Amino acid sequence: MSAATALSTGTYRQLYIDGQWVDAVGGKRLAVTNPANEETIGEVAFGGREDCRRAVAAAKVAMVGWAKLTSWDRAKILKKTADLMRERADGIARTLTMEQGKPLAEAKGEVMHSADTFEWFAEEGKRAYGQLIPNSVAGKRHLTLKHPVGVVGAIGPWNFPITLQARKIAPALAAGCTIVCKPASQTPLSLINVFDCMIDAGLPKGVANLVIGSAKEIADEFLENRDVRKISFTGSTEVGKQLMRAAAGQVKRLSLELGGHAPFIVFPDADPEAVAKAAVIGKFRNNGQVCISPSRFFVHKDIEKRFTEVAVETAKALKIGNGLDAGIEVGPMFEKKAMDGTIALVQDAAGKGAKILTGGKQDTRFGKGYFFQPTILTGLTAECKMMTEEPFAPVMPVMDFSNLDEVIEAANNTVYGLAAYVFTNDITVMWKMAEGLEAGIIGMNDPVPATPQCPFGGMKESGLGRELAHEGLEAYLETKYLSIKLRD
Ligand code: NAP
Repeated sequence: MSAATALSTGTYRQLYIDGQWVDAVGGKRLAVTNPANEETIGEVAFGGREDCRRAVAAAKVAMVGWAKLTSWDRAKILKKTADLMRERADGIARTLTMEQGKPLAEAKGEVMHSADTFEWFAEEGKRAYGQLIPNSVAGKRHLTLKHPVGVVGAIGPWNFPITLQARKIAPALAAGCTIVCKPASQTPLSLINVFDCMIDAGLPKGVANLVIGSAKEIADEFLENRDVRKISFTGSTEVGKQLMRAAAGQVKRLSLELGGHAPFIVFPDADPEAVAKAAVIGKFRNNGQVCISPSRFFVHKDIEKRFTEVAVETAKALKIGNGLDAGIEVGPMFEKKAMDGTIALVQDAAGKGAKILTGGKQDTRFGKGYFFQPTILTGLTAECKMMTEEPFAPVMPVMDFSNLDEVIEAANNTVYGLAAYVFTNDITVMWKMAEGLEAGIIGMNDPVPATPQCPFGGMKESGLGRELAHEGLEAYLETKYLSIKLRD
């Protein structure tokens, strides 16, 4: 394990502003807790508006030099960051498991996916092409240039603290922007490890800054400081809407990656046993605390019984425990509030007639930690909260359906439109579902569709814009149109 990523009792990490690790101006600190045993694993400086203002000022100054570098020079630092993340993946993954709860193998997967994101954008930054557009008037020439949008304020959540910031940092820096990152307050340490990699990769001062602190104060600074030209937010739809309203004040550029409520649809020609196993893995990954987590399971009535039997067997066999221990497949939920919310969702469904086939309760066998049994339910009605509210929990409601039109209507009956999953081998059904589903990401026989080169984002209230892929780079670029009149 790299010294830079080792956590030891008494670990204290600071904010990173203008190339320096610094205490918060107000001197505040925040303890970071391990959700598996409720123990403090370290402390971080906890800043506010003044710290954010200093970071934005540094980012503005740094952007002059950073934007002038060639995309090839910027790429070298991003690529080196990716290499260092891979070298230090074991240590970073341990930090991530300890602060977030996910099993070590999932944590390592997150580090590697994030390293791939840095590497991919290092290359894609070289393709920020403008266009030469044919003229309609003799003697004129028209072209477009791509220009970095400016200083970016990036706010991320706790469920994927590295990946979801990497999707902002890598394209912003590749485009020639500079950035101020605000991680979720309870999961700052693994992102600090990524900053360690960026710094060791040669990041110039001020280009990327890290301000852990009060969400309200930092967001207000991002919203009101005219030097912040764009806010990129991943988190709840509720906060996304607040930011969208407030950003109107300065017509601030926004990217929003918000909540989801993904349908998982299984047609009768699919193998119910294989798909049930894939469904359980997909559903209980990170305890269902995943924006693209499948959360409404529609299984054709001809195979629903077998699908559900195998899903229950598979869920019962999942190995639950502290994510640092070998072979653990499901860790604790992220916090007590999340676990209590899950208990309330299950009680609400049971009270409205749903049948709990497995799980349904807090798992108290370890004495400490926020463990909840992987839960499968049937017999849900439209009134059950988990059918309309994003559950963000290890709950798997299974319903049956009879035909394609009916299931498309049920799947689209939500304000969300982030991900959807379809299992069938019938090409006609595939196309009809691809065209009929209101979702930005569709996994067709694929429960894990996210990859750096493909666009990620939602329709309807699931967000605005796309991350990853070329669209994810465009999100940090302005298009300048240039019209030239030549001499006769
Ligand atoms: P959240 O409460 O919205 O928090 C996300 C981030 O926003 C945190 O850094 C939080 O800071 C900050 N924040 C809280 N209140 C704020 C405010 N008033 N103004 C500005 N920032 C504020 O969301 P969460 O519960 O952490 O994350 C879960 C949600 O994120 C789910 O809805 C999930 O679907 C969504 N999500 C979406 C995607 C996607 O790509 N579409 C990916 C992952 C998660 P503090 O930690 O300091 O409170």
